[in-house]
Amino acid sequence: MSVIIKLPEYVNKIMTDLESKGFEVFAVGGAVRDCLLKKEPDDWDLCTSATPDEMINALKNYTTIPTGLKHGTISVKSDNHFIEVTTYRSDGEYSDCRHPNNIKFVKCIEEDLKRRDFTINAFAYNQKGDFIDLFNGREDLENKVIRCVGIPDKRFKEDALRIIRALRFAAVLDFNIESKTEQALFENINLLNEVSAERILVELKKIILSGNSAVIQKYKSIFEYILGVTLIDEDISMISQLPKDISMGFAALFYSVDPMQTAKIFKHLKMDNKSIAEIKMYLSLKGQCSYLKKSECKRFINRYGAGMVNKCIDFLSVAYRNSNKEWEETRKIINSIIENKECCSVNELDICGTDIKNMGYGGRDIGDILNFLLNAVIEEEVINSKEELINYIKQHKICKM
Ligand code: ATP
Ligand code: MG
Repeated sequence: MSVIIKLPEYVNKIMTDLESKGFEVFAVGGAVRDCLLKKEPDDWDLCTSATPDEMINALKNYTTIPTGLKHGTISVKSDNHFIEVTTYRSDGEYSDCRHPNNIKFVKCIEEDLKRRDFTINAFAYNQKGDFIDLFNGREDLENKVIRCVGIPDKRFKEDALRIIRALRFAAVLDFNIESKTEQALFENINLLNEVSAERILVELKKIILSGNSAVIQKYKSIFEYILGVTLIDEDISMISQLPKDISMGFAALFYSVDPMQTAKIFKHLKMDNKSIAEIKMYLSLKGQCSYLKKSECKRFINRYGAGMVNKCIDFLSVAYRNSNKEWEETRKIINSIIENKECCSVNELDICGTDIKNMGYGGRDIGDILNFLLNAVIEEEVINSKEELINYIKQHKICKM
């Protein structure tokens, strides 16, 4: 069956320029796969018979960045899109389970396609409409199958990142992993130790964002190996019910994991501080009672911030499914507090530190008084107006230091 793929204009331009100089050029990899799946590709990769020097020369009119010259890759800017263009190459022997010891530029696309990881990632398509599918990737795509190009055991031993990539494609595309490929995954699990934490984290994030709990459950032992902890099926199943959010997803995965171990995982994966803080925030919600009085809602907003509080409730209503209705009630109260701009934090009090200073207070008393007032406003013991607040301080005869 013939294949017709609409190449975007900014991709066509580069292809036309390379072809007009007599070079072959094909769109390859994920973009072709996504087009066949009728999905919008994130990025386009091209593959050409031109050597890097020839590419740079043929594409003089573009901004080019030698992103991976050693491997024959340059990034070309076309209409504000960056496209990776790589010389046809084959990979030499691998000795570190990750990078080929050497690469060799080769003459034909077929040679290049052999180095690619999975059959569904090894298509090539050019402007003439030639579609190359050496490994029956089309059939695998139709049958929703992830299958290594070549002998799985060998391919995972060459580059162990492919193990977690296989899981990622299975999760994101919701495909099954073919049995020999699957067997080799399990047999080579220990090689994941050779893969950098950064690369593992990138793939893990994509897996979590896919929301595909079934794949994580199916390959739980591999994830447990990577993370060095025992995972619980109920926690994993939360991932598919939560909104697609990386921090929420990680918090679900680590829901039952001991906090000390979670801290170790963060370090091991070299997770950034912002994500760690967010994941910890979701984990801190554990044990939160579902029915909140209005004043408790205000404290909840104060603690988690108006911007995050709805996400917290999303998390809680999945974590405590049986009290989902109560959470939705709480959500309504919280949103009406936010909408009415009711005071939930010291900054929103109609009085500031200077006002209190002017009343003769100083040092730590100022902060303490502000918190005292906030508490009174939240409990609706006093109205949030400057005059009332000043009277309230006077009434309570707070001693000066
Ligand atoms: P995505 O949708 O995430 O961009 P992709 O398939 O395009 O998926 P990339 O990481 O962008 O993945 O890689 C582009 C192509 O390069 C792949 O489709 C595959 O053909 C090849 N490739 C990438 N990483 C490897 C690897 N570790 N081993 C073999 N081939 C790889
Ligand atoms: Mg890609």
